[in-house]
Amino acid sequence: MTLWNNLLGNLAVVAICTSLLTLGNPWFARLHRRAQPLALGIIMACGTACVMLLPFQFLTGVYLDLRYTFIGISAFFGGPIAVVLPLVTALAMRISAGGTGVATGVVHILLTAGSCLILWRLTKAGTVTAGRLVTVAGAVAASGTVGFVFTVAVSRWGVVFPAVVAPFASVLFVSTTFSGLAILQERRRVLITNENRIYRAIIEALPDCLNAKDLDGRFIAANPATAALMKAPSVSTLLGKSDADFYPAEIAAEFHAVEQDLIRQGKPLMVEQKFTGLDGRDVWLATLKAPIRDERGMITGLVTHNREITEQKRTELALATARTRLADAVSSMADGLAMFDGRGTLLFRNEQYLALFPLTADVRDVGTSLKDVLRLSIERGEDQAASTCPEDTVERSFATFMTPGTRQFRLADGRWIEARTRHATDGGAMIVFTDVTAAKEAEVDLKVLNTHLAGLATTDALTGLSNRRAFDLALDEMTRKAKEAGEANAGLGLLMIDVDRFKAYNDTYGHPAGDACLKAIAACLAEAASVHPDAVVARYGGEEIAVILPGVGEEQALHIAERLCAAVRGRMMPHAGSDKGIVTVSIGVALSSPHGGQRRDDLLTEADSGLYSAKALGRDQVQRAAPHAPRRRARR
Ligand code: GH3
Ligand code: MG
Ligand code: MG
Repeated sequence: MTLWNNLLGNLAVVAICTSLLTLGNPWFARLHRRAQPLALGIIMACGTACVMLLPFQFLTGVYLDLRYTFIGISAFFGGPIAVVLPLVTALAMRISAGGTGVATGVVHILLTAGSCLILWRLTKAGTVTAGRLVTVAGAVAASGTVGFVFTVAVSRWGVVFPAVVAPFASVLFVSTTFSGLAILQERRRVLITNENRIYRAIIEALPDCLNAKDLDGRFIAANPATAALMKAPSVSTLLGKSDADFYPAEIAAEFHAVEQDLIRQGKPLMVEQKFTGLDGRDVWLATLKAPIRDERGMITGLVTHNREITEQKRTELALATARTRLADAVSSMADGLAMFDGRGTLLFRNEQYLALFPLTADVRDVGTSLKDVLRLSIERGEDQAASTCPEDTVERSFATFMTPGTRQFRLADGRWIEARTRHATDGGAMIVFTDVTAAKEAEVDLKVLNTHLAGLATTDALTGLSNRRAFDLALDEMTRKAKEAGEANAGLGLLMIDVDRFKAYNDTYGHPAGDACLKAIAACLAEAASVHPDAVVARYGGEEIAVILPGVGEEQALHIAERLCAAVRGRMMPHAGSDKGIVTVSIGVALSSPHGGQRRDDLLTEADSGLYSAKALGRDQVQRAAPHAPRRRARR
């Protein structure tokens, strides 16, 4: 009985110590990392001491106990720190007990500690497996019994081995295996608990909804985000309830149908769900549903992950609307629009752009290089810019088009195109092409009109000669030039011409006839004055006509004046109111001095004075007044 009592006592101590270790594990886990093996060592040392006080005998005189189990377990699970106390306890008690087996006992103890320390060293923390535990148990059984081979006489092996060594090794093996498995199991439990804690923390903090439901759609687990979405006060109030408890029957039925479909198919499912939320606003959810299976692979429920994508959906919708509007605007704009990247590759163009360039529309497509387009435009004769070296033209046009600014160019068909280039944000260029032919033509018309108006502003309407304004400007200009020319200047002649007895002409023939006569006189004088290429013939006022003769001397001026006088006379226009019987003119001549000349007013006064003399001396003649002669207004 003593054998069984003490053997069971030994096993009980192993069981108690193992229980202490597993039960106290949560508490040990809180200790410092280095204190944990020490705590293991203390419990194992107590166990060692207890079993050594309760030895059992398989054979009379051979006392055994399970100290090796404690030493092996502490060395393998706790390393050198853990094994010190059980080792010292075992050695001290064995040596103090004395007897013939001291040496063998000490060797057994050291061998067990050594072999299990080696296995501890070879096993990385956290990778202990049941297989490795069997090795440890084997090492304990072997090192606790190996001494029998040497201490027992070979003749007694047949008795000792079946009666002592084999059962003792078995007990050591079994006790070490079970104790180790229990510790391993506990460590795994702690590990899983820790992992669960981490997962729980993540799930609780997750802004997305995560929940699990049973096959009937009742919540069996949920995170706070789910409770918030369902407007439930807490997660616990959610458990046991289903969507029908929160949503209108129609929406709940829809959700339920999706879930039942998933349970039937047994495959994960991704859906986007839109529904009216509990607060009345439209809600979009991106939902992932996956089946939960038990050990046999049977579906026991489903896990749901929801992410609210309402904002994302709204943005997508707004973006799509903006895109459509932009596309509408671009396609309905009157101008051609083309966008190029930094290297001049076409990225985008509208239809109007193609319509502007019909001869090259087929190549103006996305992905084409602007240089290729320009080259083809020259080759096909669309571009008016013909060049002996087209490559130079292409390079120049390319650089111009890609540079911000506005420019106009003419196509071979006569159309004018305006191109406005802006830098795009990505380093490319956005070019707006406008057909400005109509505006360009209007511009040309305007220029013609302006020239015409300018002509009108300087021309006398009745005679077609220069008017008084043009005369004043011309006289100013020519006196200034004459002054500047100084010595080199031959002088400036001024003729003042007045029709003789013209009042009487009007009185005789009527005013319209007077106008016609005046016109004829003007034409006659202009033609006669054309002997001087730079002569300016102007209507000075009423029936007075002035002629400026730049670069003439006195002789030449008088000669031209005589020529004019004779020309009118030569026309033989009847004038019954004149004593001459025909239309005649009187001419006063003035000349600027070659040495610096006169002021324009002096010239006018002088010419007027000459004219007065001509009238006074009988009309139809030319007279030159003395320089600076006072003007005798009496003639008028
Ligand atoms: P004189 O030989 O002294 O110059 O005699 P005159 O009658 O020509 O006298 P004066 O030069 O002073 O007269 C100018 C006249 O010319 C007055 C006006 O009736 C006439 N006259 C001036 N301008 C025009 C015009 O545009 N058309 C017509 N039909 N007559 C004009
Ligand atoms: Mg007059
Ligand atoms: Mg007159």
